[in-house]
Amino acid sequence: MNAPAQTSLRRGACPGLSAPMATGDGLLARLTPAGSTIALDAFAGLGAAARRHGNGIVEITSRGSIQIRGLSTASAPLLAAGVAALAIDANDGIPVLTDSLAGLGRHEYFDTHALAAGLRRALAPFAGRLSAKVSVALDGGGALHLDTVVADIRLRAVGSAYVHVALAGDAVNAVPLGAVALDRAAECVTLLFETLAASAPRSRMRDAIQGDGLLAFSAAVAGLAVSFPVPAIRPAADPVGVHRLASGANALGISLPFGHSDAETLSRLVAAAGQAGAIGVRPAPGRALLLIGVPAGMTRKLATAAAELGFIADPADPRRKVVACAGAPICASGEIAARTLAPALADAAGALRDGEIIHVSGCAKGCAHPAPVALAVFGRDGCCDVCAEGALITTVTPAALPEAITVLVRSRSPA
Ligand code: SF4
Repeated sequence: MNAPAQTSLRRGACPGLSAPMATGDGLLARLTPAGSTIALDAFAGLGAAARRHGNGIVEITSRGSIQIRGLSTASAPLLAAGVAALAIDANDGIPVLTDSLAGLGRHEYFDTHALAAGLRRALAPFAGRLSAKVSVALDGGGALHLDTVVADIRLRAVGSAYVHVALAGDAVNAVPLGAVALDRAAECVTLLFETLAASAPRSRMRDAIQGDGLLAFSAAVAGLAVSFPVPAIRPAADPVGVHRLASGANALGISLPFGHSDAETLSRLVAAAGQAGAIGVRPAPGRALLLIGVPAGMTRKLATAAAELGFIADPADPRRKVVACAGAPICASGEIAARTLAPALADAAGALRDGEIIHVSGCAKGCAHPAPVALAVFGRDGCCDVCAEGALITTVTPAALPEAITVLVRSRSPA
């Protein structure tokens, strides 16, 4: 598809509302919420706008952004204007990711929202100077922590007065720099991005460190950072399930099967959430949606209603073990219909060991899950290359894929 000049076509760029990206089913716009609760009527309005201006498909990404598909060059600006009218607190600059329950949970060390807002203001001048993919993870110590979220700069609360700073990765593999006083955190992030902009402006932090080393970054914040042990990795945080809020109400976490839904189904979900007493929603990493402020006595009923609409309300649902990109024909690069194939693999995926997943990818690019997985399927010339632990095991037709995956999963199961 040829795109007009104002359309962003940079591969790998994040397609914000103002610069949607061309895909196989039209333009795709991405809304990165700034962490506040989206009122139910605003979320319903977002779904209506997706239906009016796009093809009604709404996705939540692995990093908790909302994607709206099927836009045209004429309708994309109308969507942007419609979303602006809904006053959804969104971030079109460098993403500052926070715990999805920031400000609502019971375990935060400080007001994560306020620090995130300050960081976004401080980082506004960098938006055009750095890679479109750089991000900051700000972890205030809440239940839905960010240990598995990859970011260029990580800040994690270590008590109420300091944040631990690390670069380029998730909590396991990021490079630690020490701890910085909370009131100097924005200054620290600014200095680190100034250093990146000066040395490798189009690179991610990891590439810059691998190329020129850590010295320039550690020197830039030497006056701010003090030596501090790397905080311990926490048990995995799962957005799906019931989360008790400081208010006494609950947040009910559900997941979109294979990361997508449609405007009509979401509108029914909003209606059910309203009837149950919820006040709003927040998207969450892991293709999840948190229904906020559900009275304790209504939570189970809402979970049942969400499940009846096809959403995943049970943390053990085997569909969560299959990650699929849009694939053909939604993505122009797709060589198999990855998203269409995914449901047929869920039963087999249920027998995988804890933590193992199947990644179905429309082509060799592997967008939906860049990290290594137990089993992976890549589309090639209309067929499926099936890999286990990175090694090609077999190539089958899409029709034969469910059986091939079932046999492969069985062969891996303990006797
Ligand atoms: S992996 Fe390939 S087919 Fe899937 S979304 Fe990415 S580019 Fe498209």
